[in-house]
Amino acid sequence: MNIIIFGPPGAGKGTQSDFIVKKYNLLQVSTGKILRDEIKNKTNLGQKISSLMSAGSLVEDKIVNKLIEEIVSNRNNENRFIFDGYPRNLDQASNLDNLLKKYEQKINIVLKLSVSLNTIKTRISERRYVEKRPDDNEEVAIRRYETYEKSTEPVIEYYKKLNLLKVINGERPIDQINKEISGIIDTLQAWL
Ligand code: AMP
Repeated sequence: MNIIIFGPPGAGKGTQSDFIVKKYNLLQVSTGKILRDEIKNKTNLGQKISSLMSAGSLVEDKIVNKLIEEIVSNRNNENRFIFDGYPRNLDQASNLDNLLKKYEQKINIVLKLSVSLNTIKTRISERRYVEKRPDDNEEVAIRRYETYEKSTEPVIEYYKKLNLLKVINGERPIDQINKEISGIIDTLQAWL
């Protein structure tokens, strides 16, 4: 089973992915986390992308696609992915399609956490003090939200047309969202 989870920054993708990963023994592929680790570890790549990320802009497709291929090509990970933060635009979606085909896999379900910009602003300002992410301030959050709407919403439409999309109201308490997601995955597993 391979899953993609979408949602604007601050929608709770990370929290929900953590829950799904533990419950269903999946492997979380969070490009945001991988890229932040590159910065933390002061690698060459980290130095290259640091200012882009702080400004809330997307990192080049070529870089992110390469990271994803390294993970998808590892047969030990087969059919247990939850992609969180990838694909972010249509080119990345097409790259993921090709990669999954190449490694004889597919996406089984796409979850979208739907949250308003107002809620996002509140959550980001709270998270800022906990996670200390340089891209968690209101101005950058708005920019990341706009990038999400412009670049990522078309990707969500793409999966909707493929009948893979489930939209989840992300404004509710975490455990209610957990329950809804579990219901969706349990139903899916019964069919697989
Ligand atoms: P996230 O943790 O998913 O909110 O991502 C944080 C930041 O990492 C984004 O604002 C981008 O700068 C970068 N990033 C994460 N995933 C991608 C991606 N798939 N493509 C390009 N940039 C990404």
